[in-house]
Amino acid sequence: MRASTYPLIDADEAAALVLERTPVLGVERVAIADATGRVLAEDLFGEAPLPPFPSSAVDGYAVRAEDAGRTLRVLGESAAGRPFDGSVAPGRAARILTGGVVPDGADTVVMVEDVTVVGEQVTVPGQLREGTNLHKVGADLRPGELILRAGTQLGPAEIGIAAATGRAFLPVHRRPRVALMSTGDELVEVGKTPARGQIPDSNRWALLAALREAGAEVEVLGIAPDEAEALRRFVTGALAHADAMVTSGGVSVGTHDLVKPLLESLGTVHVGRVKLKPGKPFTFATLEGGKVAFGLPGFPVSSLVTFEVFVRPALRKMQGFANLQRPLLPVRLGYDAKPTAERTEYQRVRLRRDGRELVAETTGSQSSSRLMSLAGAHALVRVPAGDQAISAGTTVEAMILALP
Ligand code: AMP
Ligand code: MG
Repeated sequence: MRASTYPLIDADEAAALVLERTPVLGVERVAIADATGRVLAEDLFGEAPLPPFPSSAVDGYAVRAEDAGRTLRVLGESAAGRPFDGSVAPGRAARILTGGVVPDGADTVVMVEDVTVVGEQVTVPGQLREGTNLHKVGADLRPGELILRAGTQLGPAEIGIAAATGRAFLPVHRRPRVALMSTGDELVEVGKTPARGQIPDSNRWALLAALREAGAEVEVLGIAPDEAEALRRFVTGALAHADAMVTSGGVSVGTHDLVKPLLESLGTVHVGRVKLKPGKPFTFATLEGGKVAFGLPGFPVSSLVTFEVFVRPALRKMQGFANLQRPLLPVRLGYDAKPTAERTEYQRVRLRRDGRELVAETTGSQSSSRLMSLAGAHALVRVPAGDQAISAGTTVEAMILALP
């Protein structure tokens, strides 16, 4: 074993460094059918008013409010997409259907339920108010109004408003292309029977899921051996088409831990050790061509926790998200949280509701090899370094992964 030469960096400082060095990716135009989950690259403003014409909200009769209580002659019909061309003079009405243009002259719509119809005559109620049952021009959206901000993720409603304003294509940031590989001579492909001393490579599949959930397009590479030249070939090949690389394993101080020296030779290592538990050996480097590399620790929980703390926000920055972080919510500790002396700790918890509060219960042994501490966890509770336990009942902030 060698002592690491990398300075131990504070966890927040390391996260800030990663974000600072991570580029925002370029912009492409995608058809709205393909825009789900993408991040808008420009502010969108209304050009034309919505609705573009005064539109009826109900089926009924377009009339003048001053004609309240009178029997009116019905001149014609304004259906959706088939406007009535004439105008409604005093003592006249036009039948109108939902979405139909309210004809000139009419200033209110009476619901069909509220009138009496005899032949081509309609009798309207004694009280009518101008502007009832119709959407005025621009009531939903005025020209020049901000519709969606750059950095917004496009979901159903956002895509709906884009379509309603006539946009068939939208400018979005490119998704990051990420090359993913595992390192370690002990690893075998999942499904193969491990020989003595071997284990299935689980990190690659856990990280693949995490990367996809974070919006990345992943190129899944294989298992790189613990041998410097072979690892170099693997990594340089992987980087050809990628914006980012994610590896797991090979970043601690064992003699077989070759990822850091390799990244050092290919670019600049900005983070080599972090005051973080789990995840002390987390490594971050920038490489030629604005590419970034994340060397995640091999222990399964460490790799996923460092993914949450460092990689996910970085991937969101690449995609232009305005909001890079998971939501933080106050939770009441249901257990005594013991801190680690020199390192910020992210403890895995399950949440339950107690009235209006969320209560955090530990998922049990927090060993970095024990994936069961993260499976089914709802949140990560951040426990600052120190020697002071946070006692049960204290309210702390938790990084929410999923709500119960
Ligand atoms: P390392 O960081 O390479 O020293 O690995 C630390 C621990 O994590 C070792 O016990 C490895 O066997 C384990 N490990 C490394 N890579 C993986 C992987 N891809 N899947 C599951 N466990 C792993
Ligand atoms: Mg290893």
